[in-house]
Amino acid sequence: MPIEQALQERSGNKCELCGSVDNLSVYEVPPVAEPNSDKSILVCDTCNTQINSNDNYNMTHWRCLNDSMWSPVPAVQVMAYRMLKRLNSESWAQDLLDMIYLEDDVRAWGDSGFGDAPEDEEPTLDNNKATLAAGDNVVLIKDLVVKGANFTAKRGTPVRNISLTSNPLHIEGRVNGTRIVIISDYVKKM
Ligand SMILES: [Zn+2]
Repeated sequence: MPIEQALQERSGNKCELCGSVDNLSVYEVPPVAEPNSDKSILVCDTCNTQINSNDNYNMTHWRCLNDSMWSPVPAVQVMAYRMLKRLNSESWAQDLLDMIYLEDDVRAWGDSGFGDAPEDEEPTLDNNKATLAAGDNVVLIKDLVVKGANFTAKRGTPVRNISLTSNPLHIEGRVNGTRIVIISDYVKKM
C-alpha cells in the first residue's frame, strides 16, 4: 500500500499533529533510510510549514500538541516531542515536555538530532544558487528517472509547492502524482 494511503487510513485523513483536514501531505520523520508509514506522519500545510521553519512559531497552533503527544503512533510522538523541545521557552510547552511519555527507543529517535529546526546557514539552493523555500514552484532542468515509480520525470516538468527536507541538497515534490525526493541542483525556481 502506498505510504500516503496507509497514513490516510491510520489518521482518518487528518493532520496527525493538529487534526486539520487541509492540504495534507506526508512528512517523513528523520532520519529515514527506507521511507515507510511507520516513519512518516500525515501533516497539514500549517504544521509542515512550521516544522520546516526555525522561527515565527505559531504558539496558538501548537497547543494541538497537548493532544497529539498522546498518540499511540511513535512517529507522531517523536514530532510532538521535537516541536515541544523547540518551543520550550514557553512554560506550557515545558510542562508538556515534563509529562510526555516515550519508550526509550522512541525518545532516542526523538533526540537523534535530525529533524530539528533547520539551520539558517544551510539554505537549500537551486541550480542558479537561488534560495528555495517550502511552497516554492520549481521546474526540472534534467530528466529524472524515478526509481520504484517506473517513470521518467522530463526536463521542463513543473513541480509546485515543494517541501524542504533536513538535507539542504534535497527537496521533495509531487511529479505525476508521486511524491519524490529531488536533488535541489536539478531544479530552477519558477
Ligand atoms: Zn496540522
